[in-house]
Amino acid sequence: MSDKFDVIVIGAGPAGYVAAIRAAQLGLKTACVDAFVGKDGKQALGGTCLNVGCIPSKALLDSSKQYFNLSHNLPAHGISVENAKVDMATFIGRKDKIVKQFTGGIGQLFKANKVTPFFGKGKLLKGNNVEITGNDGSKQTISATNVILASGSVPIELPFAKFDGKNIIDNAGALDINEVPKRLGVIGAGVIGLELGSVWNRLGAEVTILEALPDFLSVADADVAKVAKKEFEKQGLTIKLGAKLTKAEVKKNEVALTYEDKDGAHELTVDKLLVAVGRRAYTEGLLADDTGVKLDERGRIVVDEHNHTGVDGVWAIGDAVRGPMLAHKGSEEGVAVAEWIAGKAGHVNLETVPWVIYTEPEIAWAGKTEKELKDAGIPYKIGSFPFAAIGRAVAMNEAIGQVKVIAHAETDRLLGVHMVGPGVSELIAEAVVAMEFKGSAEDLARIVHAHPTLSEAVHEAALSVDKRAIHKGN
Ligand code: FAD
Ligand code: AMP
Repeated sequence: MSDKFDVIVIGAGPAGYVAAIRAAQLGLKTACVDAFVGKDGKQALGGTCLNVGCIPSKALLDSSKQYFNLSHNLPAHGISVENAKVDMATFIGRKDKIVKQFTGGIGQLFKANKVTPFFGKGKLLKGNNVEITGNDGSKQTISATNVILASGSVPIELPFAKFDGKNIIDNAGALDINEVPKRLGVIGAGVIGLELGSVWNRLGAEVTILEALPDFLSVADADVAKVAKKEFEKQGLTIKLGAKLTKAEVKKNEVALTYEDKDGAHELTVDKLLVAVGRRAYTEGLLADDTGVKLDERGRIVVDEHNHTGVDGVWAIGDAVRGPMLAHKGSEEGVAVAEWIAGKAGHVNLETVPWVIYTEPEIAWAGKTEKELKDAGIPYKIGSFPFAAIGRAVAMNEAIGQVKVIAHAETDRLLGVHMVGPGVSELIAEAVVAMEFKGSAEDLARIVHAHPTLSEAVHEAALSVDKRAIHKGN
């Protein structure tokens, strides 16, 4: 086999493996290099998302939700269960099996599409050569007309709370705890902190989340964040805002924390500490000194609007470049770059990338928040509708939250759709389609929505933009 490819992708996360499959579909001779080692010590394709991110977190969120529902939802349906227990080996084992199924599935997709996988650390050399260093230190060099960098991201480590894999853990550690900790501290009330904090809270851990910023979930729309915070606190999560961790000391299998807020310094002792203060682009060892590929001030690979690095035939996608650190954003960039390489018209619209937080209630949005529009001086009008007035949500005993639709005050064009409530991770897709087609609130309002479904909340919120919601006062 010749070592010359049309495309080499470095990284097999959702950005890289999707780019590789699409390139191969387009008839390009494609290789994909990845260094991730799974729990069994073997190569595991799929990157952060499949191994220690999206998929395992959703597996544990779903398992813990079943358990939580036994005491918090089923009694309302007249169902009681006594002595419910969680078998931790099954709880973690089910997650591991799902991860293995999906990481193995990428290998099969590579085979079916004739993508050649390489196991090892890839380094871009000048002239679009890629040096691969295997786990045993062996080296080989392959080359290509195009190289796509998809090296992803890693958790940010706080210098005074370094990960030890036992008491101070990152996302991978928090997905692999074999015994419910009595007290779990979480640093950072972002997406990862809230999701993983929820998992362990549902299983009975006392979870305290420290967030340095004064506002809760400031990336989301303020109305959504307000409902979510209230519900999380009802579930037993302690959320301290404006609370900045300044020290963490492991002592006798406990972690002694010091955090500062407006009232001064405070102490808190926990059994485990999850540090979830964000992720950074991972480019260590990726680039030889003379490649010409540039990094920005946050260490991300610099690319233009076509994900091109400015170096002939070198592209970059996913968490390693600007834009939201979300799996589907990286995958769409992967498809687009493969299509651009093949001379086709690729397309990525970062303005309509949906965000989802898989807590209970779920949170989802696409487009601009009310604050962003206000700051930009864009005139807007709002419609909203509560799940409390949606028959299906009440029947499910999950009538929490609302859908909020923001449209341009003059043109009615959809600018943002923000949801908190049951099943909104799925409902947001309708808003994304409408926004991608440059739809208006009236477009959503004129579409027939099945009754009784949760999607009626989207319909009614769109009607309410024009003050004509049927099932609430306007
Ligand atoms: P990654 O998935 O990080 O993959 C990069 C791959 O490249 C890795 O396998 C890495 O080992 C490999 N690599 C890096 N450098 C080299 C090199 N030099 N040579 C060879 N291989 C290399 N996003 C969502 O959209 N939805 C979610 O529900 C969601 N949940 C998440 C939950 C958690 C706990 C975490 C941590 C993240 C979550 N994310 C979620 C974010 C999501 O995982 C990332 O946005 C996504 O994985 C980024 O994809 P990527 O392909 O750019 O990088
Ligand atoms: P995200 O980037 O969405 O994963 O969120 C990470 C969160 O961690 C952000 O909201 C940060 O404000 C928060 N954070 C960062 N450093 C600290 C710290 N030392 N103490 C508490 N919160 C922090």
